[in-house]
Amino acid sequence: MVKQTIQIFARVKPPVRKHQQGIYSIDEDEKLIPSLEIIVPRDLADGFVNNKRESYKFKFQRIFDQDANQETIFENIAKPVAESFLTGYNGTIFAYGQTGSGKTFTITGGAERYSDRGIIPRTLSYIFEQLQKDSSKIYTTHISYLEIYNECGRDLLDPRHEASSLEDLPKVTILEDPDQNIHLKNLSLHQATTEEEALNLLFLGDTNRMIAETPMNQASTRSHCIFTVHLSSKEPGSATVRHAKLHLVDLAGSERVAKTGVGGHLLTEAKYINLSLHYLEQVIIALSEKHRSHIPYRNSMMTSVLRDSLGGNCMTTMIATLSLEKRNLDESISTCRFAQRVALIKNEAVLNEEIDPRLMIKHLQKEIQELKDELAMVTGEPRTEALTEAELLQLEKLITSFLEDQDPESRLEVGADMRKIHHCFHHLKKLLNDKKILGNNTVSSESKDQDCQEPLKEEEYRKLQDILKQRDNEINILVNMLKKEKKKVQEVLYLPAKDRREFRHSQSPPFPPGNPEEGQRMPLSSAPSQAQDFSTLGYRSSLLHQKTGMREEMSLGRQEAFEIFKRDHADSVTIDDNKQILKQRFSEAKALGESINEARSKIGHLKEEITQRHIQQVALGISENMAVPPTPDQQEEKLRSQLEEEKRRYKTMFTRLKALKVEIEHLQLLMDKAKVKLQKEFEVWWAEEATNLQVNSPAVNSLNHKKPFLQTSESQRELSQLLSNKSSGDWEVQGQGAGRFDAYDVNARKILPSPCSSPHSQKQSSTSTPLEDSIPERPVSSIPLTGDSQTDSDILAFIKARQRILQKKCLGSN
Ligand code: ADP
Ligand code: MG
Repeated sequence: MVKQTIQIFARVKPPVRKHQQGIYSIDEDEKLIPSLEIIVPRDLADGFVNNKRESYKFKFQRIFDQDANQETIFENIAKPVAESFLTGYNGTIFAYGQTGSGKTFTITGGAERYSDRGIIPRTLSYIFEQLQKDSSKIYTTHISYLEIYNECGRDLLDPRHEASSLEDLPKVTILEDPDQNIHLKNLSLHQATTEEEALNLLFLGDTNRMIAETPMNQASTRSHCIFTVHLSSKEPGSATVRHAKLHLVDLAGSERVAKTGVGGHLLTEAKYINLSLHYLEQVIIALSEKHRSHIPYRNSMMTSVLRDSLGGNCMTTMIATLSLEKRNLDESISTCRFAQRVALIKNEAVLNEEIDPRLMIKHLQKEIQELKDELAMVTGEPRTEALTEAELLQLEKLITSFLEDQDPESRLEVGADMRKIHHCFHHLKKLLNDKKILGNNTVSSESKDQDCQEPLKEEEYRKLQDILKQRDNEINILVNMLKKEKKKVQEVLYLPAKDRREFRHSQSPPFPPGNPEEGQRMPLSSAPSQAQDFSTLGYRSSLLHQKTGMREEMSLGRQEAFEIFKRDHADSVTIDDNKQILKQRFSEAKALGESINEARSKIGHLKEEITQRHIQQVALGISENMAVPPTPDQQEEKLRSQLEEEKRRYKTMFTRLKALKVEIEHLQLLMDKAKVKLQKEFEVWWAEEATNLQVNSPAVNSLNHKKPFLQTSESQRELSQLLSNKSSGDWEVQGQGAGRFDAYDVNARKILPSPCSSPHSQKQSSTSTPLEDSIPERPVSSIPLTGDSQTDSDILAFIKARQRILQKKCLGSN
């Protein structure tokens, strides 16, 4: 058992604006515990009679200042937790701090550079590297990714995520068994056998989260995310299995409701966050007080899920992320205060070992048989009756598997029955004799074959050709079947929720009801076993393809608009940069691959040369009738050192190539994610343009009255809600041709890309300007409409969008 208080670390984010001097200082005396002093400037410590405290001091295990890079954070904070996790202890790392203080950056990483990858990817890399090195145990790794939003659990890796809307997905709920263990129903576990697979799951979850987020629900700042690695290990032959869980947690922003100063819907959310973190605080206060018997874990989902991490069986680490700028001082101080309380909590981590009942039964059965045999031997009961037919057959089977077993340690166990032992010897003798005769026969038939080689060759050739044909046919049939299967699975995945339900009812379940191992690990959940059956990689690529490949279904007009949108989008620079880096990495990997091949063949040649040299030496010794020269041959020495050098080079290059592969994979995932983001932002922008158009134009309005504009995403649905709720006063039409949603705009602008991201340019585009008037605008009603409201709104929206882009360009060039 390891007793340990929760470790607390602080990380200060580099300021967005120029460094504001004198706000904080770090005291890192070697002998003392490091402390962070926050100094509140006099102008902030308000009031006439200035009796407010001006300086606050907080102690941390370590404080990482602005210049600490991701590698340092991993090495100092995450690596020790990962190490104890690998030995079988539960671990948790959670980041706490206000929105924008760097929680996601620290836990997951930045979205642009490979070097910015955070604790999760680095920890995954470290874990799989260590598992590969250790061949003494059998390891199994699973991943789950849970999001808690407004006290509601969502599985970010649910394979049905894309095919259905969030509301249709089953909620993750908490179940407690009689031993008070927490089980999460509907949270899928996905096996990951390599770093790549685990990384894919991380990106898949993040992408799902991004897709679900709408301007009205900025889930990323208001939800908690728990990425969990589940590890089980056992020694070969042992019945004891060790389980450990590693939670990597990105908490919601810790800012208080009062400061957010928002109303309506957003206030409800902010309250929730506060409520959820408030319960976390309550749990922490209860834990840090001595003699408290009741800890209110059950008050919120997050504290229930993290129950073990807080005051339980877990090694827990907290990272307080701080954005130490003047306006954030209040929040920073409250983050530090929270950390001080957390530091008082004591955890007791134990190794989680359990006996696998199936293996145990096997062991016991064997032991019983051995004891029975021993007993028979000791009591000396002679058995005289002949062995039955079934017994003989069983013995022969045992002999065959004994002979086929490659393990030199394997034993032929027939018990203490002399009849059986005798029969075994007889049987073995028979086999040996048969083989001898057969061996002789083969030799003679081989010599015969040489006489009639030609005709046999032709016959054999024909036979082989026939087999080849058969195999070809088989492969073709299998490929067709596979294609059909794949199509079916895709249909299930992409069917709208309702159809899918019908589909499920009408078909027998496409997947078996899970393997026993899974059932054992998550006894109360049925989802994991199903989820296992989606190949992670296949699923990811099809999903990402679906997400990035939306353009294929776009109308031509929309495609053109998307091209323009993409070109002017700030993120496209990042995508292009990453593309460039990827290109470089690819060519580097290619060159490395070639060098590796060269080195490999060089090693082969050198080995060959050394062998040749050796043979020559021996031959020389024999011909001159003397022993091999006792002093090592100089030429050979040289060859050997060359060989060693080449091997070293090979190893270095190979390691580099492996690292490159991981980097390439990571960059590709970053780009995939950026593309999905771009696409999503385009959809939002497009929807907004289309809605503006609807508000502006009575013609379109009436058109859409008859046939509502087909809305797909959640944001669009919310938009239509707003539209139908005109009387609420949330939005207003400002003059002719300038409809806009105030509430919506405020949020939408946050995520709008550069072409219309600045409020300034928004204003220009949404209010009537002389320039707009000067652009000859065809009356909307005179545009020949196709009758299909979707296409019509597409066309109309595009015309409008083009005008705005043109207009902005004109303004820009002026
Ligand atoms: P949070 O998740 O706490 O809301 P983020 O992690 O999203 O905050 O960080 C906000 C912004 O600051 C992001 O653009 C992120 O890239 C940047 N950032 C945060 N921490 C650092 C850091 N240590 N170094 C560089 N940039 C950072
Ligand atoms: Mg965040």
